Parts: sequence; C-alpha cells; structure tokens
Amino acid sequence: NTFAEIDLGDALNLNIRRCKYVKPTPVQRYTIPISLAGRDLMACAQTGSGKTAAFCFPIISGIMRGHLPQRPRGSRTVFPLALILSPTRELSVQIHEEAKKFAYQTGVRAVVVYGGAPINQQLRELERGVDILVATPGRLVDLLERAKVSLQMIRYLALDEADRMLDMGFEPQIRKIVEQMDMPPPGERQTMLFSATFPREIQRMASDFLSNYIFLTV
Ligand code: AMP
Repeated sequence: NTFAEIDLGDALNLNIRRCKYVKPTPVQRYTIPISLAGRDLMACAQTGSGKTAAFCFPIISGIMRGHLPQRPRGSRTVFPLALILSPTRELSVQIHEEAKKFAYQTGVRAVVVYGGAPINQQLRELERGVDILVATPGRLVDLLERAKVSLQMIRYLALDEADRMLDMGFEPQIRKIVEQMDMPPPGERQTMLFSATFPREIQRMASDFLSNYIFLTV
C-alpha cells in the first residue's frame, strides 16, 4: 500500500515522490479513496496525522483532471475552485506551504489569506489567479464583503480543525461563508470536515454542510 499505487495524476504523483512520501498515513489511507470517489466525509484526525495531504491530494488531483467550470476572465473578483478553511494564521501558512509543494508544476495555484496582516499583498496574490484558496474565516468574510472573492465556483471545501474554529468563535463566519457557495445539487460540491473531537456543534455542522457523508475515526 503505497502512493505509487494510487493514480492521482502524473504531476502530483511525482511531487509526492519528491516529498519522500511513500506510504500513506492511516488517515490518508482511509480518506483519500473516499474523496477520490467523490464522497463527502467527516474525519476524526489529530494534528500530525497527515491530514493536510489527506485533503490536498484529492483537491489537486480533481482540479488537474478538470471537468470544472469555466471561470469569468478579466473580472476583479476571483473565483477559486477549492477552499480550505483553518483556524489560525500559522496553520493556514503551513497548509499553503504544503499545498504549493504538492501542486508544483501541476498548473494548480494556491493562495493563502489570513487576518492580522495587511490585505494589499494578499489582494495582489489573489489577482494573479487562484485555484485553491487557504483562508482563516474572518479575513475571508472581509474579502467576500469587498467582493474580491466569489465562492460561486467552489467545488471542494475542506474544513480543517473544525472544533478549534468553533472554540475560537468562528461559527457565524463559517456559516456565512458556506451560504455563499452556490447551493449546488447534491454531489456537486465535495466537502471534507476534519476535527479532533465531535461535540454536538460539530455534528450539527456536518449535517448542515455535508451530504450523504462517510464518518471516519482513525
Ligand atoms: P500534518 O498532520 O498534515 O500536519 O502532517 C504532519 C507531518 O507529516 C508533516 O510534516 C508532513 O509533511 C508529514 N507527512 C504527512 N503525510 C506523510 C506521509 N505519507 N509520509 C511521510 N510524511 C508525511
């Protein structure tokens, strides 16, 4: 059971080799096939379990393989295809660093935005184009209100450390963000929810945001 046996697309498989990932971690072994099959999932996973790759690989692979909507050109608003929400600036930066390595020479571009930093540099990065947006909830709401970002074309949504986002009081922002994704027919948006714990609030988010999902504890 190695990554070489999972067809994620040549460019991504090559990057995985370059990162010296040979065997999937348990969370990767269980979640990647489910995500590649197009199913929503909620997974119990701790930090350090390899969940960044668990949600990045299916997203990058899916974008590389296409069947994705044509995005408006020449608009000041950007239309990412995938959104990864995470609770903190540090975690978002870390996810972005990993995503860039995995997406190297795939033609898939990842951009990170977070609060507590000047917005102008982030706007310039967005204007150069974005397929995968890694964001903290507050800064993303700000960008949505300024109409700098539209979530109408989101096909992949990953919520990382969802319990921590709720502990930090981000539930209203998260709900606002998800409401802006065009309510596609079931199956069109694929959602992955990762959390270390499953209190009632997380279960409610799962039933509100996921459709016909698979629940995994690793
Ligand atoms: P994460 O839980 O995503 O923060 O990953 C924890 C650490 O494990 C990071 O340094 C990853 O680069 C590394 N890692 C993740 N998956 C694998 C794998 N399959 N093989 C080797 N290292 C990995």
